Amino acid sequence: MPASIVPHEEIVTPAVVVRTRAFGESDKIVTFLTRDRGKVAGIAKGAQRSKRRFVNVLEPFTHVEVTLRTRTNRDLAFVDACVLRDAPIAIARDLVKFAYGSYVLELTDRMVREHEAGPETYELVRDAIALLEHGDAEPGILRGFELHLLRLTGYEPELDRCRKCGASAGPDATMYVYPARGGVLCVRCRGEGRAYQASPPVLERLIALQRTEFSDCAGEHLRLAPAMAAEARALVRCFFAADLTAPLASEKLLESL
Ligand SMILES: [Zn+2]
Repeated sequence: MPASIVPHEEIVTPAVVVRTRAFGESDKIVTFLTRDRGKVAGIAKGAQRSKRRFVNVLEPFTHVEVTLRTRTNRDLAFVDACVLRDAPIAIARDLVKFAYGSYVLELTDRMVREHEAGPETYELVRDAIALLEHGDAEPGILRGFELHLLRLTGYEPELDRCRKCGASAGPDATMYVYPARGGVLCVRCRGEGRAYQASPPVLERLIALQRTEFSDCAGEHLRLAPAMAAEARALVRCFFAADLTAPLASEKLLESL
């Protein structure tokens, strides 16, 4: 066999279903965020027709154990089997939770390239869905999720000190947000470019979310009061701007709530 032809590899891994779409008359193409292989798209033969083979498992938000046959040099794997671990019910029934969860999945899909994510990214998405399923839909969860996703994809913004002189952010320090510089600049270092002034309490809360394990980001002390929520959202969102040239459908849903 020539070296360039690589045989199929079968893997069994926990995964979150990120996206599905019908393919032809009877198949489905399913995007998984797996623990062991990052983001993988697979074709589930007969998934539209046969309800027996993939009973309710190939739906967004479900946590599964999937058996994939990956093919090197091919984008699509084969989905050989998929066993349900957890199907979020509250997310399916509550519009706000559904909108939050859809945003988590869509942002992940947009930010994570095929095969690149490590187990921590899978854990982050799995934990975000679990927090929404079992707790309140709270803006702090989304901001914590975004900040941790930025870290895992290599774009973590430096919010706690000036990117130029290192001066610390704090209750009495005025800081300006510079996405292109990857963080904030103090009042002395800020230049002419477009930037806006961050409110110290909002910045402080976002720094706390960055420093907290994501699974603890729903804590009472990290909640974002309505007065802080809009600014916190805009502040974190601007660090995604370069990667999100097209708007996300789930953001429109969130805004309509
Ligand atoms: Zn400075």
